[in-house]
Amino acid sequence: MKRLGISALSHGMLLLILALALSLDLLTDFSLLSFVLLTFSAMATQGAFWLLFHCRINLRFKDPSLTLMQMAVAIIWFSILISQLPEIRGSLTLLYIMVMLFGIFQISMFEFAFVGLLSLVCFGGVIASDLYFHPEEINLKLSLVQWLILASAQTWIALFGSYVRRLSERLKRQRSVLRHSNHKMQRANEELEQAMEQLDEIAGTDELTGVLNRRRFFEESRLRLAGTDEYQSSALCMIDLDHFKRVNDRFGHQAGDLVLERFCQITRECLRGSDLFGRYGGEEFILLLPQTNQESGVQIAERIRLAFEQYTFDSIEPGLRLSASIGATLHRWGETLEETLKRADKALYQAKSFGRNQTIYISGAQSSSRTLDNAGKTAKD
Ligand code: GH3
Ligand code: MG
Ligand code: MG
Repeated sequence: MKRLGISALSHGMLLLILALALSLDLLTDFSLLSFVLLTFSAMATQGAFWLLFHCRINLRFKDPSLTLMQMAVAIIWFSILISQLPEIRGSLTLLYIMVMLFGIFQISMFEFAFVGLLSLVCFGGVIASDLYFHPEEINLKLSLVQWLILASAQTWIALFGSYVRRLSERLKRQRSVLRHSNHKMQRANEELEQAMEQLDEIAGTDELTGVLNRRRFFEESRLRLAGTDEYQSSALCMIDLDHFKRVNDRFGHQAGDLVLERFCQITRECLRGSDLFGRYGGEEFILLLPQTNQESGVQIAERIRLAFEQYTFDSIEPGLRLSASIGATLHRWGETLEETLKRADKALYQAKSFGRNQTIYISGAQSSSRTLDNAGKTAKD
């Protein structure tokens, strides 16, 4: 459509120049009737092409822009126009060159040769018709020189045009190869990112239980705590399974592993999505409960302890029950995670020494401790 627009514009411009020359009385042999006929024929050819495009008939052709056809039609039309204007014939031969340039980027070497030959035949026809109708007016030598100039110009444009087309095709091919490899690189990048994410997850996960490993727990906890202010308290719990060594000794390490896995499952079921749960090492676990006060922190710890205590490991030994001791504290705003952890560890130590299977809370403020025995009762220490 764009090409057709250019073509129609060129026809229109020519007709406009002719109209101007006519009105200024510059053309002696050119009649108004010829002008009207030329205008109509231009409208007819351009209109016919527009129809072909509009009805999408052009899509049936190998080159849907119909460049070659448009060029051939334009050459015939220009030749008729040139034949009417012997006074300005020399300068009008430029029109043939214009038509050739119209095909650059679009038509092949053979097609260029065809269009070039067609223009030479048509221009030859114009000269021949002059020779036949006005033999006394024509300067044959001059016309032949014009024809030869046109022939060499068309040959040059045909060669140059096909060279430009080859270049543009190579460029197109390179661009498509580039696009293809870009696409491949993008996909490889995405896969790499995915693999990195997976690797990162693996690097931060405890292999046996699937919970966060110690390093990742600390990284994540520090991030969480950095995002809180002094009005948001977070609870930290250290959990240690009671007499776990006995499980290993009596039932073997595989049974011990099973206990660790089950304990993690049970604990996870008691937690919220925002809580952080990690394996501190061996049969010791660590818990960060963001935006949690003393009461709910102890409540959650107790929920975990009770759920584990009530679970029976029938697959190891029918009716086998185990327990855990928990040390809990609140993170004080401004203190390091290590300092909080130290308090939780102290609370855990107390829970062990008070007889295990219980939660001990040590407040960050006064370092006073509070015991929750296995029946859920509380007692000031
Ligand atoms: P306490 O009630 O005082 O905590 O006694 P405990 O037996 O639980 O503690 P102790 O530190 O004496 O024993 C912990 C045992 O946990 C020793 C170690 O072999 C075992 N353990 C550590 N990691 C694993 C593991 O990944 N799998 C198994 N099966 N056992 C482990
Ligand atoms: Mg231990
Ligand atoms: Mg233990």
